Amino acid sequence: MEGTYEFEKKFRDQVLRCSSCGFCRAVCPVFGLTKRPAFNARGKMLILKEVMDGNIPLNDELVETLFQCTTCASCANQCPSGVNPPEIIKQVRKDMVQGGTCHPAFAGMNQVLQEYTNIYGEDEPEDFERERNKKADVVFFIGCVGSYREDEATMATLDVLDHLKVDYTLIDEVCCSGALGDVGFEVNEKLAKTNVDLILATGAKTVVTGCPYCSRTFNGKEEYSALKDAGIDIIHVSQFLKDFDFGVKTDKRVTYHDPCDLGRHCGIYDEPREIIGRIAPNFVELRHNRADALCCGAGGGVRGAFAKNSIAMARRRLEEVEETGAEVVLTECNSCVHNLTNAKLRAQKFKIYTTTQFINELLEEA
Ligand code: SF4
Ligand code: SF4
Repeated sequence: MEGTYEFEKKFRDQVLRCSSCGFCRAVCPVFGLTKRPAFNARGKMLILKEVMDGNIPLNDELVETLFQCTTCASCANQCPSGVNPPEIIKQVRKDMVQGGTCHPAFAGMNQVLQEYTNIYGEDEPEDFERERNKKADVVFFIGCVGSYREDEATMATLDVLDHLKVDYTLIDEVCCSGALGDVGFEVNEKLAKTNVDLILATGAKTVVTGCPYCSRTFNGKEEYSALKDAGIDIIHVSQFLKDFDFGVKTDKRVTYHDPCDLGRHCGIYDEPREIIGRIAPNFVELRHNRADALCCGAGGGVRGAFAKNSIAMARRRLEEVEETGAEVVLTECNSCVHNLTNAKLRAQKFKIYTTTQFINELLEEA
């Protein structure tokens, strides 16, 4: 059967395959917080069945439910029926936007990106005092969060690359625009072409991204295929740094938060732990780790659209940090650092860093 919406054409089988077993319920961060059955994958699949049956339209009344998903993929990871709810939900959001229904937080996002070339609509990024657009072996691609919100972490990462004498360059990057695909839009071809042209002009053979989402976008989206065609490797900074000896150590108790975009979405669990293992022998895992890691609540546009719930999800994650008695929480995503830091209570004395930011602090103390 064809159906009215694109999601039906692409995902009808998957929606029908959902057996309502509820295995996804226990792991959904939105349900864990709100306890509202419509907000977990099972509830969303039931609603979409009604949409496919023509009983309810994809209209404004469904915005709160269908835009409240961090696309963390915990449900997909648990599903015994092979349903991938975040992929379905992303297509449903595109159908909603096509039909004139969008969460107000994202209604102008496409225009903002075209005008300002970053998701925050800001005029100028931090300069970072590094050369840009020069010939180099490696392009370091920062990403919007690292450029406009977590610039200290980015500066620290660049200091580590300098310390390791990596031959890298920055470029006059624009938003990779991968986030558009999460909230109902397509990757912006013009922005993608700007990034591709700037990267190709450097002659680099490797692109190292500070953000796991940028890495996913470059590796997965057709608009960036020219990079692969040119034989360029696109990797996250944790993959790039995994074999380096930093020559520093801490005896602090350290734990690690697996970002959804790096962990469940890319299967990268070992590289960050190899790095941390070399600098922090007193390492302790969080209760939920690797593929079972709890989402920080920032993804899928939830931080922008449902800020209060996003922070509350991050607080649930930080309760697990408290359980471990860790003094330091490391992660590999600026967006996770941003949300976890915003959620941290004054009484919580641990510090939150990207791994490279923490390595830089150890290097400066040495
Ligand atoms: S785990 Fe899969 S099959 Fe079970 S309710 Fe969730 S989406 Fe449906
Ligand atoms: S992707 Fe994450 S937030 Fe979205 S329904 Fe699945 S478990 Fe819940």
